[in-house]
Amino acid sequence: MYELIVIGGGAAGIFAAIAAKEARREARVALLEKSAVLLAKVRISGGGRCNVTHACFDPHALTQNYPRGSKELLGPFHRFQARDTMDWFESRGVKLKAEADGRIFPETNRSETIIDCLLSHAKELGIEIYLKERIQSVSKMEEGFEIQCRERKFSCRSLLLATGSSSEGYKIAEQFGHTIVNPVPSLFTFNVPSSPLKELSGISFEKVQVQIKGAPLLQTGPLLITHFGFSGPAPLKLSAWAARYLFEKEYHVDLIINWLPQFSKQEIFKQLAEIKKSSGTKKLLSENIFKFPKSFWHLFLDLLGENFKKRINEISQKDLQLLADKLHEDCYQVEGKTTHKEEFVTCGGVALKEVHFKTLESKICPHLFFAGEILDIDGVTGGFNFQNAWTTGFIAGTSSVN
Ligand SMILES: Cc1cc2nc3c(=O)[nH]c(=O)nc-3n(C[C@H](O)[C@H](O)[C@H](O)COP(=O)(O)OP(=O)(O)OC[C@H]3O[C@@H](n4cnc5c(N)ncnc54)[C@H](O)[C@@H]3O)c2cc1C
Repeated sequence: MYELIVIGGGAAGIFAAIAAKEARREARVALLEKSAVLLAKVRISGGGRCNVTHACFDPHALTQNYPRGSKELLGPFHRFQARDTMDWFESRGVKLKAEADGRIFPETNRSETIIDCLLSHAKELGIEIYLKERIQSVSKMEEGFEIQCRERKFSCRSLLLATGSSSEGYKIAEQFGHTIVNPVPSLFTFNVPSSPLKELSGISFEKVQVQIKGAPLLQTGPLLITHFGFSGPAPLKLSAWAARYLFEKEYHVDLIINWLPQFSKQEIFKQLAEIKKSSGTKKLLSENIFKFPKSFWHLFLDLLGENFKKRINEISQKDLQLLADKLHEDCYQVEGKTTHKEEFVTCGGVALKEVHFKTLESKICPHLFFAGEILDIDGVTGGFNFQNAWTTGFIAGTSSVN
């Protein structure tokens, strides 16, 4: 009989199996993976570079990056947070670097570096790994669990589910009495087929504010205009915080962009009025007072109409107010979403109130543990989703063999 069987060979499952073995070397630990490869998502993560965690080392601040799970992760982050992730990899020979926006990557810029580190440790520790293992049933026995696979049977004292967003994992959790919060996508970009800005695809802004009309949801940060709508950190974060709301609205909402979040509407108008006084004979087109990308400013004024191509002193106060209003509240019709290729995740999963966050053990079924994305936890883009996998994997793995 195994002390622990982990189902799922992703970031959370592998990390949990390693943590279990490191906590108790003599424990027999096995990992069952349905596919032919381990850590498939780690390989493609972060555009092949693996954004392993985020340079945010205060547990409370770290929790603020999780639209689902922030309250529950506070305790676990006091035990294993982003600093611990960095120490863990660096003490095992992986050099890491932080980028200006806080994302942390291996210095090699290759996700293989992370995979090699994890898999060589799993091997060294003697974790028994079974690939292409199709689970047919899982039963609770008097002592522990029995797992019937197509060709063999396993038994274990503790069972750890780390199956990500797979429906099979949810089914096993449900079988043991758990509630699955309806899984819906998170971290996507907005499709705006009617956007006249699409022709500016590739142009980015350092800081805008994006908001969904009628919902108290807004995010500030960089934005990228794409050929299908809007992408970049601010829209992605908004998609995460509003994941469930957007799902309910079938991804048809009005997106309001504030192109100048550092100013109030009155301040924008005041600046326009001042420029009218000081440089009235010039054209708004040439006076790019807000330092926007030139092509954007031209198109933006163009879309407002002929009046805005005149000399500034020929533009009425009413029109200047209209311009200030549009810079502050520019509305676009979202009609669908596109999966962000660099990172996406599922909102929903095992209901958090049914799990002890000191151990990651089920409150309903003793000796059943959870780690990673199977839980109703997801973070915004930037390395927070792997941090959830490392933290919950570490705690679940350690406590399952103690
Ligand atoms: C393209 C992409 C890029 C990403 N980039 C980043 C990034 O740079 N930084 C970041 O923080 N996050 C990133 N993420 C999110 C991150 O990859 C996930 O949050 C993380 O992988 C979750 O880990 P997990 O182990 O819980 O689940 P998974 O990685 O999904 O692993 C689950 C494993 O369980 C296996 N499994 C499922 N069902 C069964 C079964 N019945 N029996 C046996 N095995 C089973 C699956 O085959 C899989 O190997 C990215 C996601 C994607 C899709």
